[in-house]
Amino acid sequence: CGIVGAVSKRNIVPILVQGLQRLEYRGYDSCGVAIHAASLGPAEGGGLQRARSTARVAELMAQVQAEHIEGGTGIAHTRWATHGAPAVHNAHPHFSHGPGAEAAERPGRIALVHNGIIENHDELRAALKAKGYAFHSQTDTEVIAHLVDSLYDGDVFEAVKAAVRQLRGAYAIAVFAKDEPHRVVGARAGSPLILGVGKDGGEHFLASDAMALAGVTDQIVYLAEGDVVDLQLGKYWIIDKAHKSVTRPVKTVQAHS
Ligand code: GLU
Repeated sequence: CGIVGAVSKRNIVPILVQGLQRLEYRGYDSCGVAIHAASLGPAEGGGLQRARSTARVAELMAQVQAEHIEGGTGIAHTRWATHGAPAVHNAHPHFSHGPGAEAAERPGRIALVHNGIIENHDELRAALKAKGYAFHSQTDTEVIAHLVDSLYDGDVFEAVKAAVRQLRGAYAIAVFAKDEPHRVVGARAGSPLILGVGKDGGEHFLASDAMALAGVTDQIVYLAEGDVVDLQLGKYWIIDKAHKSVTRPVKTVQAHS
């Protein structure tokens, strides 16, 4: 239903959750946020952390404060369930811990949020199960997280490019990887996704609607059908559906809340 993502040098959790609050009017049954705990400095350990809730976004905010979930790199989601009941284990972000019997003890490797519907989720799930991936939700979305992990070789942008080629249906996604603390990748086909160019510190944002970024940035790039975008500190990069590097116009958008 709603997506917000960011790469920043400051703790971005309040902005991610406020972004969800601006999208609340669209309706949702659950919500969640995931961050890279190492993204605010090398002194901090930890990798992927998340909080998810079937209550209001305000409850999610209380949860991240109580659990001290802070990071500069993160993604957040409000869910309108299509595959799998509204429940915490089906709420996004979804993680992949990689394949194999010992995956559950391993730290999360890929975090992902998704709007839309993946039509070929059954066949993708079967292929990923054959590779040793265990599933922890009934969503079509978890399939994308494991698919990206199965294609990951140190470059999440390349993994997402390869993964979306295998997806049928509608998606806007935002993804980050444990091994790349200052990078978020987005992709869209059939569902909206925009890039927000930050004002300070080289920070950049993703959202399903510019309204989610009201008061944060009004410099918006509307991604085209089939685009994949690579967000890093101080730079971003867009490729089109033919995998050609493209420049899309930056528009000044007055978002009304
Ligand atoms: N199909 C996904 C799910 O049911 C995403 C739904 C949405 O767009 O919120 O989890």
